[in-house]
Amino acid sequence: MAAQKAETRGFETEAKQLLHLMIHSLYSNKEIFLRELISNASDAADKLRFAALSQPELLESGGDPKVQIDFDTEKNVLVISDNGIGMSRDEVISNLGTIAKSGTAQFLETLTGDQKKDTQLIGQFGVGFYSAFIVADKVEVRTRKAGTAENEATLWTSEGEADYSLEAVDKATAGTEITLHLKEEEKEYAESYRLRSIVKKYADHISIPVFMVKEDMGLPDGDDEEGETKKEKEVEYEAVNEAKALWTRPRKDVKADEYKEFYKSVSHDFEDPLVWSHNKVEGKLEYTSLLYVPARAPYDLWNRDSAKGLKLYVQRVFIMDDAEQFLPLYLRFMKGIVDSNDISLNVSREILQKDPVVDSMRSALTKRALDMLEKMRKKDKDKYNGFWNEFGQALKEGPAEDFPNKEKVAKLLQFTTTHSESDAQDQCLDEYVSRMKDDQEKIYYLVADSAKAGRSSPHLEIFRKKGIEVILMHDRIDEWLMSHLQNFDDHQFQDISRGALDLGKLEDEEDKEVQEKTEKEFVKLVERIKENLGDKVKEVRVTHRLTDSPACLAVDDHDMGMQMRKIMEASGQAVPETKPIFEINANHPLVVKLDMEADEDRFGDIVSILFGQAGLADGVQLEDPADFSTRLNKLLLELVG
Ligand code: ADP
Repeated sequence: MAAQKAETRGFETEAKQLLHLMIHSLYSNKEIFLRELISNASDAADKLRFAALSQPELLESGGDPKVQIDFDTEKNVLVISDNGIGMSRDEVISNLGTIAKSGTAQFLETLTGDQKKDTQLIGQFGVGFYSAFIVADKVEVRTRKAGTAENEATLWTSEGEADYSLEAVDKATAGTEITLHLKEEEKEYAESYRLRSIVKKYADHISIPVFMVKEDMGLPDGDDEEGETKKEKEVEYEAVNEAKALWTRPRKDVKADEYKEFYKSVSHDFEDPLVWSHNKVEGKLEYTSLLYVPARAPYDLWNRDSAKGLKLYVQRVFIMDDAEQFLPLYLRFMKGIVDSNDISLNVSREILQKDPVVDSMRSALTKRALDMLEKMRKKDKDKYNGFWNEFGQALKEGPAEDFPNKEKVAKLLQFTTTHSESDAQDQCLDEYVSRMKDDQEKIYYLVADSAKAGRSSPHLEIFRKKGIEVILMHDRIDEWLMSHLQNFDDHQFQDISRGALDLGKLEDEEDKEVQEKTEKEFVKLVERIKENLGDKVKEVRVTHRLTDSPACLAVDDHDMGMQMRKIMEASGQAVPETKPIFEINANHPLVVKLDMEADEDRFGDIVSILFGQAGLADGVQLEDPADFSTRLNKLLLELVG
C-alpha cells in the first residue's frame, strides 16, 4: 500500500464553486471552522463506538475517545486529531473529494449573489469539513481507518483551489489528524487563548473531551531559562470542554446559548433555532429527546430523498443519523436527537421500522413537536408567522398523513383571509372562529390561484356585503388539504364556490322569500340560457352569491374543484369530466336586459360572453377564445355605432 505514489485529482466542479463561495461568504464568522472539525471528530468517535459494538477489537488500541488540538504559533499551524473511526482511501475520496450531497447543483442555482442571503443559504447547506479553508490555505488530512494496518493510512492534501492529492502513508494510530496551515492573517487560530475560548463556546456540549496543552506549557518554541527545551518536559494535556453530552444534563443547568450551539452542531445550520424542547421521559418507556425547530427551510425540504430525521442514540451511544422513524413526514423539518434506553444497541433501520417501542416514541414525539409549535404560536405570533412562511406547506400535509393528530395540526394551520391585511398566510383557524358572526355556523373558504385572485372573485360579493370573513386559499396543496379537513371546532368547512349557497342562519326569512320570488320570475330566462349553452353546463340557476357581477360559476357538491383539476392536468393525469353550474344575478341590469332580448343571435352572444367572463374570474381558460372575441367585438361595434 505505502508504495502507491501520490496522485492528484480535481475536485468536482460543484465542489470548487461551493468552496469559493464559502470562503467568501463566511468571512465574518470564521471561527466556526473549529466547531465543524470538532463536531466531525466527535461524530467519528461516535461511529467507532458503534462499530465496536460488533467488533470490540476496534477499541482496543485507541484508548478513550478524544479530540486533541495542537498548535504552533511560530509556524502558524493548527492540528486537530481524533482517535475515531478514520477513513479508508476510498472514503477519503468520496467524503472529501466531492461534496457528496444530492442537489448541490440545484443548491448553487438558488444563490442570489447577495452575500448576506447566500451566507444563510450556505449555512443550511452545511459546509462541514470544507470550512477549514476559510482560515487555511493548505489542509492536510492524515487518516487511518480503525481496523486497518499502520501502513494503510492516507494523506489527503489540498490548497482548496482546483485539486487535491492523495498519498499512501503510515500512521501509528487509527483516526484522523487534520493539519491546517493557517493563512498569514489568521494567526489568531494558533493561539492558546483564542482556541480555548472557541472550544469552550462550541464544544462544551459534545460528549468527548477536547484536549489542549496545559496553559503554562505550550509547544516547544526554543530554549527556556534553564536551558532545557519544553519538549524534554513531559507535555501535559487537559480537557478544555465539559465533555458531557448536553441532553444528559438537567434542563435547568443548560443555558439558552448552549442549546443553540448544540443545535448548530447537530444540524450544521449557522442560524439559531426558533424554539426547542428538551425532555426526559421515564416510566414504561425511557428516553430523552431534544427537538429543535429551525428558522429556515433547508434547500432540499421538497426533495423526497433528502436527509431527514433525528440523531439516534441508545444509552448515550450514537447509533445513526437521520433516523426517520421518530417523526411523521410532515414534521421532517424538525432537528434534534433522541436517546433511548429501550431500543437494542444493534438496531438497524429495518428493525426500527418494525419496533413497537419506536411506534410509541414516535407518537409521543409527534405530540411533543406539535405542542412545541402550538406554544410558539400562542406565545410569539411574529415568530410563528416566520415559521409558517418556511414550513407551513409541509405542515399542511399533516391532516392527511396523521389522522389521530388532525385537530392539533388544524390548530396550527394559517391562511390568508379577507381579514388579512396582506397576502401573507397569517390567520389561524381559532382566530377566524373568534371573529365569526353570531349566527354563523360554517367556516367559509374559497380556493383561488393567488390571494389576489381570491380577493377579486365574484364569489365573495355576498360575503363582503354581509361582512362575513372568508378564508382565501391559494397554495397548490390547499384543495387537497381541505379534502381531509371537514370540521374545525365543531364548525363545518364550506367552499363558497361549491354547491348552492346556504348561509344558514345568516339569512333571515325575508331574504329567503325574496330569493324564491326572483327564482320564479326568472325561470324562463334560466331555461333559455340552458338551451343556449347546452352541454357546456351542468345547470343554470339564479344566484344569491352576487351583488355586483352579472354571473359566476359554481362547482357541484361532489365534483372536483378547479385547483385540483389544474394540478392533475398539469401532471398529465386523466381528469374526470365535470361541468360547472352557471349562476346568474337576477338583480344585474345586464341580466334584466338579457331577459328582454328578443334577437336570438344577440342573446347567444351575451350569454357566451357572460359565461366566458365567469370562467375567467375563476382563473379558467376560455374554451374558444376566438369565438369569445368575435362575439365581444360584435357587441362593441354595435355600441360604437
Ligand atoms: P458532514 O459532516 O456534514 O457529513 P463534512 O464535509 O464535514 O460533512 O464531512 C464529510 C464526511 O467526511 C463526513 O460525513 C465523514 O464521513 C468524513 N469525515 C470528516 N471528518 C472526519 C473525521 N475526523 N473522521 C472520520 N471521518 C470524517
